[in-house]
Amino acid sequence: MPDIADQLSSIRERILAACGRAGRKPSSVELIAVSKTFPAEAVREAVAAGQTVFGESRQQEAEPKLAELPEGLHWHFIGRVQRNKVRKILPLFEVVHAVDSLKLARHIDRVAGELGLFPKVFLQVNIADEESKGGYSAEGIREDMEELLRLERVEILGLMCIPPAVEDAERARPWFVKTRELRDELEDGFQVELPSLSMGMSGDFEVAVEEGATHVRVGSSIFGRRSYRVDGELG
Ligand SMILES: *Cc1c(COP(=O)(O)O)cnc(C)c1O
Repeated sequence: MPDIADQLSSIRERILAACGRAGRKPSSVELIAVSKTFPAEAVREAVAAGQTVFGESRQQEAEPKLAELPEGLHWHFIGRVQRNKVRKILPLFEVVHAVDSLKLARHIDRVAGELGLFPKVFLQVNIADEESKGGYSAEGIREDMEELLRLERVEILGLMCIPPAVEDAERARPWFVKTRELRDELEDGFQVELPSLSMGMSGDFEVAVEEGATHVRVGSSIFGRRSYRVDGELG
């Protein structure tokens, strides 16, 4: 079992260094500690080390875990969103990272209205057009953007991507660049601010920060190896 406090401080230092290389303010990057598959106890250790922002990818796993933990933590839902789970996800999570269709966004908007909430979301873009991955195509976002911006409750923060897994983080760089460029294009084309980019995981978060990530989702480098897979695409 790794020492979570040590791992966290090392990740924070690496984020700082990446910000330095890119001439970015450290406060412009949010570290989301991805606690999926790990028990509430591991989250408590991270909280003791000063971490307050966490990510989970399954509502069924997260709900009992969150119930054991103190209030005041900030939870991000980073997994695929099943329609029938939206009503349970919205009250628990401040941000939903993987919105990938107008239909889903409208459903979230409707449920948020019923619950009196104003959820923040990322649009997930399948930036490398991989068969196995969820997410909008770039073209799909362009087509839906106007309608998405018209939703009353849902606030779109920006784009989220999960590029192809590679051994060498440098090889993820072009996908991060492409995601940022798509964001810039959408901002210009639709005259809207999309300030956030959710990109970068344990293997490539430094490169993601260098390319403009505002939210990095880091799990195994903080909590250790996961002993089981959570969904079809990510372990
Ligand atoms: C599990 C997961 C992560 C964290 O992955 P690590 O490689 O363990 O850092 C990040 N993003 C998403 C969407 C995930 O499902």
